[in-house]
Parts: sequence; C-alpha cells; structure tokens
Amino acid sequence: MNGLMMGQPLLVSALLTHAQRHHGEQEIVSRRVEGDIHRYRFVDLARRSRQLANALRQLGLGDDDRVATLAWNGYRHLELYYAVSGSGRVLHTLNPRLHPDQLRWIAEHAQDRALFFDLSFLPQVEAIASLLPGIKAFVAMTDRAHMPATSKVPGLLCYEELLADASDTFEWPALDEQRASSLCYTSGTTGNPKGVLYSHRSTVLHTWAAALPDSLNCSSRDAILPVVPMFHVNAWGLPYVACMVGAKLVLPGPGLDGKSLHELFEAEQVTLSAGVPTVWQGLLNHVDANKLTFSSMRRTIIGGAACPPAMMKAFQERHEVQVLHAWGMTELSPVGTVCALKGRQLDLPDGERAAIQLKQGRAVFGVDMKIVGADGAELPWDGRQSGELMVRGPWIVARYLNDEGAGPLVDGWFPTGDVATIDADGFMQITDRSKDVIKSGGEWIGSIDLENIAMSHPAVAMAACIGVAHPKWDERPLLVVVRKPGASVTREELLAFYEGKIAKWWTPDDVAFVDGIPLGATGKMLKNKLRDTFKDHRLP
Ligand code: ADP
Repeated sequence: MNGLMMGQPLLVSALLTHAQRHHGEQEIVSRRVEGDIHRYRFVDLARRSRQLANALRQLGLGDDDRVATLAWNGYRHLELYYAVSGSGRVLHTLNPRLHPDQLRWIAEHAQDRALFFDLSFLPQVEAIASLLPGIKAFVAMTDRAHMPATSKVPGLLCYEELLADASDTFEWPALDEQRASSLCYTSGTTGNPKGVLYSHRSTVLHTWAAALPDSLNCSSRDAILPVVPMFHVNAWGLPYVACMVGAKLVLPGPGLDGKSLHELFEAEQVTLSAGVPTVWQGLLNHVDANKLTFSSMRRTIIGGAACPPAMMKAFQERHEVQVLHAWGMTELSPVGTVCALKGRQLDLPDGERAAIQLKQGRAVFGVDMKIVGADGAELPWDGRQSGELMVRGPWIVARYLNDEGAGPLVDGWFPTGDVATIDADGFMQITDRSKDVIKSGGEWIGSIDLENIAMSHPAVAMAACIGVAHPKWDERPLLVVVRKPGASVTREELLAFYEGKIAKWWTPDDVAFVDGIPLGATGKMLKNKLRDTFKDHRLP
C-alpha cells in the first residue's frame, strides 16, 4: 500500500520563497563589475527574480527555452538562477573562459534563445553574436549609465531597464519536479564538451545533501563566499544551499586575485569558502607575503582537483582554517564525496588525521559508489587496490543532452573516468584520472601522489606529472615544474626529494622546468596539452 503523504514537487523556486519568508533580512553582498560593492537582502532577491520572470516572458521566451549566461558570481546572476529555472526555463551557464568558437558551439548545441552577460564579457559576445541566429535577446547585465556602445551585438538590451519595466507580481508555477532546471557543459578536459541537464528534483535533493553537517556543513550562521564560479557546476550548489539554510552570501564578482578575495573575506566576515586549489594558491601567497590572517574564516572546501598536502597544512596549521576536501563532477551536480572525519578519528595523531583528510572522502547520502577492475569486477574496500570509480544516484547524469548513442551508463552505473581506492571506513581516494595514469611496465603509477610530493618542496610553485613514451617500460613519469619566484632547485635535488617517500620505481625519470603550466577553463592543469608539448621528450 502507498504512503498517504503529500506529493509536493521539489522545485528550485521553493528555495527562493523559503529564503524570502524565513531569512528575508539575510544579506547578499556582491563585488560588481562596475567596481563597487552592492548589498541587498533575500527579500530583494525574491522581488527582483519575480520581476525578471515577467521580463523573460516579455522578451518572448518560450516556457522551456534555454537562457544562457556569461557572468561572474554576483546578485544579477543569482536572480537569473531563480527567475529562469523558477519560471520553467533552463538556465545555461556558459563558461566565459572558453574560446569564442567553443562558446558558439555549445550555445548552438544547447539551442540557447537568450544570452545575459556581464560587461567584462562583451568582447566574447561581440565575437559570437552574429553567428548565433537562434538567440533572440542579448542582455547586458548592467544599468543604463554603464551600457556599452557596440554595433556588433544586435538590439542589445539593458538588464536594469528590463527589470524596471516589469511587475513584481509573479506566481512561481507548480512545475513537474522532473522538468529541466539548468544546464552545464563538462569543461572538456576529456574531449568534446557534453551537456548535463539538471532537473528541479535533482537540484533540490543535491542541495539538501550538500548542506548537511558532514557535507559542506552550511547553516544560517554562515557567511559563504563561493570562489568557485557560478558558471562551473552551479558553484557547487552553494547559491541554492544559501537559500535553503538562510546563509549570508558573499559574491566576489571578477575579483578572484588574492588581495580582492582577502579583503572581502575580512570585510564581510566570511566563515566558509569553496574553490579549486589553483585559486587558493594565489590567496595563500598573498596572505603569507603580507603577513595577513583570517579573522572569521573557519572552513574552506577544496575540490575540482586534488588538494596538495602543503596547501592543507598551510590552511590548517598556519591559519586555523579547516580544509574540507571534496570530490565531484559536472555529471554529479557536482558533490559526490566530502572528507569529514568520523568521531573516532578526531583524536588520531596529527599525521594520521592529515593522511585521512587528504582523501577525497565519504559518499554523501544519495551517492552510491564502487570501484571496479579492468574486467569490470568490483574491488574490495581495502584502501590499497585501485580501480575505476563508478557512481549512481538521483543527482547523477543518466544521459547527455542531444546524445543519440547508448548513453554513458554501464549496468546503471556512471563510470567517472577517475581511478580510486576506497578504505574500510568508506573513504575514497582518487589516485588519478584514467587517462592521466602513467602506465609503466604493466603497472599503474598515480600522478597525483608524485605531484603532491613535488608541491611540498619549498622551491616548487606548481608541479604536474605526465607519462612520456619509454622504449622498455611503455611510459615513465616526467615531472614538469614551475619554480617559485626567486627560488632555485635542480633536477637532481628534486629527484632526491622523492627518496623514502614513495616506491623507488614510482620516482620520476626526469624533471622539466617551465615558466607556467597551461590551465583549463575551470582552473585545472591541462595535462593533455603538457603531454603534447613533451611528446618527443627524451628521457635520460
Ligand atoms: P572535467 O572532467 O571536464 O574536468 P569537471 O569539472 O566535472 O569536468 O571535473 C571533474 C573531475 O575533476 C573529476 O572526474 C576528477 O578527475 C577531478 N576532481 C574533482 N575533484 C577532485 C579532487 N578533490 N581530487 C582529485 N580530482 C578531483
């Protein structure tokens, strides 16, 4: 027999109406492209989102049209999050760091019908506007006084004017919870970008799970500053979490350098932040060089790429900021695992605790995971044997947008392309991406371990380890290193640095010093580019 409870649909608009009613006075602070700091409250977000929903209708956009954005983290982008999805349309956050050709390809593939953009991205819009006949409206997210003079964007509209002309009376429709709410493309470090189409249901369930104490641990007492962009997997869900729990939201706009971030952390008394390791490196460099401290920040979520041990140490030991290591993917909305210690692990000696914290963590409820060997058979959770990580759950992709093929699932599981171990306590650790793994004499060498060791050397600013062809072993590891400014270290010193830290045959065969390592649109090292650069590298 069925239960006799209400069948209320899980909708993105409910997050907004909840925030408005229960946390209406809570603040949202944004650094604007125009240069100043803007602040308002959740009631204002709700009112302006209703106006925007009316404006979308006036623009002639259909009830389930795709509305694209090219925007930083800011209050207007947040209004689009709620107005577009809440009204039944699909919010498509484009990544402005992509090349205009890729942007055009993605916007066409997604059949975007409108494009809202921050002024910083006018050049990108000018480059593609005439090539996208499907887009009915281009809207600059600014006021009349800041509207740019351009002849390359047909009929350019002004965001604040659209809102000013729109009524603030709007009933959020009672949509089917399975309806699409937003769309993100994978960042393409693994081939052509693929569209992941989230639903209202998947988004709300993901929000609940992400907010939990052993997940991102968010509450109404937090001031959250997502450094991770709202164009990268919905800023890991934090714009939704903030409404669900009533947390203050601090949005850094284009100011992602160490100085701008630190100023905002302090001025707004931020308690929790989130971002990829490369961003934190810039912040830590600035804080250390200027002998600054964090007066309010207590926790930071690091994910998107492995958190180097040296970074974790710097945050936790020098700055008393707890690091929460997390793993996820665009295909997972994105949160899959978070490394929150269990009660009995809290009193472990520092070294043992730190070793656990470097793992990517435990599955949040809703995510089921397993690791499998090359033959597809499940491997034991012993913390040693590694295999491909497979996941399933209600906020994990089932099919990609417009994908005609069989889809990505294998027996109902999504193969992540990551190679991992899982220990007896359920802590998962990524050892590599399957295509980055270095295959030496039939065995696998995980590049992340090798990079972490190099990164803990005081003269190393950045390190990447890639496999290069070897006549006997197939592949051997090459360490590519960027030195810290003014620091010196030789190839021999670095190779000696590995002694005793790792199995001898894992030690890189050679070191190449470079000025910089190419980063992708989401701040991750582009190892395919590096492999290309060093494809003819002769190992000694
Ligand atoms: P793309 O696959 O295009 O880079 P995503 O941004 O979705 O797109 O990246 C997901 C991938 O990032 C994961 O599959 C994994 O390889 C990597 N990743 C995410 N978080 C971590 C982490 N904490 N440690 C190591 N790798 C991570």
